[in-house]
Amino acid sequence: MARTVVVLGGGISGLAASYHLSRAPCPPKVVLVEASERLGGWIRSVRGPNGAVFELGPRGIRPAGALGARTLLLVSELGLDSEVLPVRGDHPAAKNRFLYVGGALHALPSGLRGLFRPSPPFSKPLFWAGLRELTAPRGKDPDETVHSFAQRRLGPEVASLAMDSLCRGVFAGNSRELSVRSCFPSLFQAEQTHRSVLLGLLLGAGQSPQPDSALISQARAERWSQWSLRGGLETLPQALNAHLTSRGVHILRGQPACGLSLQADGRWKVSLGDSSLEADHIISAVPASVLGKLLPAEAAPLARALRAIAAVSVAVVNLQYRGARLPVQGFGHLVPSSEDPGVLGIVYDSVAFPEQDGSPPGLRVTVMLGGSWLHTLEARGAVLSQELLQQQAQEAAATQLGLKEPPSHCLVHLHKNCIPQYTLGHWQKLEAAMQFLASQRLPLTLAGASYEGVAVNDCIESGRQAAARVLGSVPNS
Ligand SMILES: Cc1cc2nc3c(=O)[nH]c(=O)nc-3n(C[C@H](O)[C@H](O)[C@H](O)COP(=O)(O)OP(=O)(O)OC[C@H]3O[C@@H](n4cnc5c(N)ncnc54)[C@H](O)[C@@H]3O)c2cc1C
Repeated sequence: MARTVVVLGGGISGLAASYHLSRAPCPPKVVLVEASERLGGWIRSVRGPNGAVFELGPRGIRPAGALGARTLLLVSELGLDSEVLPVRGDHPAAKNRFLYVGGALHALPSGLRGLFRPSPPFSKPLFWAGLRELTAPRGKDPDETVHSFAQRRLGPEVASLAMDSLCRGVFAGNSRELSVRSCFPSLFQAEQTHRSVLLGLLLGAGQSPQPDSALISQARAERWSQWSLRGGLETLPQALNAHLTSRGVHILRGQPACGLSLQADGRWKVSLGDSSLEADHIISAVPASVLGKLLPAEAAPLARALRAIAAVSVAVVNLQYRGARLPVQGFGHLVPSSEDPGVLGIVYDSVAFPEQDGSPPGLRVTVMLGGSWLHTLEARGAVLSQELLQQQAQEAAATQLGLKEPPSHCLVHLHKNCIPQYTLGHWQKLEAAMQFLASQRLPLTLAGASYEGVAVNDCIESGRQAAARVLGSVPNS
């Protein structure tokens, strides 16, 4: 087992990896290296003047499935149960999601009966798309874009309205470029195994073993759709930081790793500007493109594969309004690219988590800007000023939600390259990277949002698995 493990990156993936290393019965020496002065990466929560919580990154974590359960277990182990704010299954934020199409909000059908009713903006009840899906033949390609997959199985309307919007909502990406195999592996696998996605999801549901705890049982019994923490999701990295410090993990902040080299004895040298560290093993939880630039010349094929995993930028605009009301109650709405290339969607934060509205309370919504509009502006080298982004967001809130009065509070953050894009053939990049690591026996393990899932649950799981590999319970493959 490795004696000194350096974990690069103090986002949730690196924190989770360090956490699981530090809890081993015979833990290695762990050094966590973070470039910025703050831990948590994209998870960041700030307070407004009235005490309201504004999330600059993720705002809700899904409890479903084995990964959702493991994150809840982590929450309990960190003593945060009393801080959890659940969205229960009967709550409007759990039941209602909308699409903004043709200048109007449309509720997405929920429940079986909804499938048989006309559901604009779709021209026919979604039952017909389901029927087409059940009878469509299995695809033959090893990978396919999300758009092509959805068009083939569910028809052009579902592809260009629903899946286009979903890709924008989850990845801020383009469904015509993203890979179904890597972005939605359960859909891809369901088709491969059962020929039909619907059949596969029905027959394959509930098979993976899940941990159990009081919090997990409560989440199941109350059918939570998502949860947050009273003081914001940044409470989670803060609690991990406190735990790691108590376990003797050495945390270096404000120290970007600026180069990695392999020494004659097979150990790593991690350059940190003025100083350096030595490591028997490295867990990299920095973005793939960053690691690609740090690697030494001997690892050029790996660096090439990693640098090919690009990421897109998102502008997050948090708005709060005094005395305003939303026209509908729900989680939020998504906007397909055909409707507005710049606005990805608007999250109705106050509906899901009114406890975070502050005092006196004010309506909180978050406008996510990105997609091809932002990409084109970035590519042209245009100045993406705070004023421009705020104006775009306020216009969207006014047009799409009728919030025409100026907000009482507004925060604008442009997150550069914040969401990795699993484009067509992403699996081949991963395979090339894993093959290189295995054939060269490099003491390096990859974790983080760049590889197999961008959701917070995926990132925590990637950190857990990286730690398990280093500790020897899972092969490094
Ligand atoms: C706007 C937005 C909204 C989101 N909403 C949700 C949501 O609602 N639900 C959900 O589940 N997920 C959501 N996500 C996704 C999720 O938040 C991220 O995928 C996840 O937080 C990424 O964690 P990470 O640790 O892998 O990477 P990061 O958070 O990117 O962490 C990497 C860390 O490495 C550090 N670093 C970089 N270079 C170096 C270096 N050279 N040396 C040392 N350190 C370095 C960085 O400073 C950073 O702290 C959202 C993401 C964004 C951007």
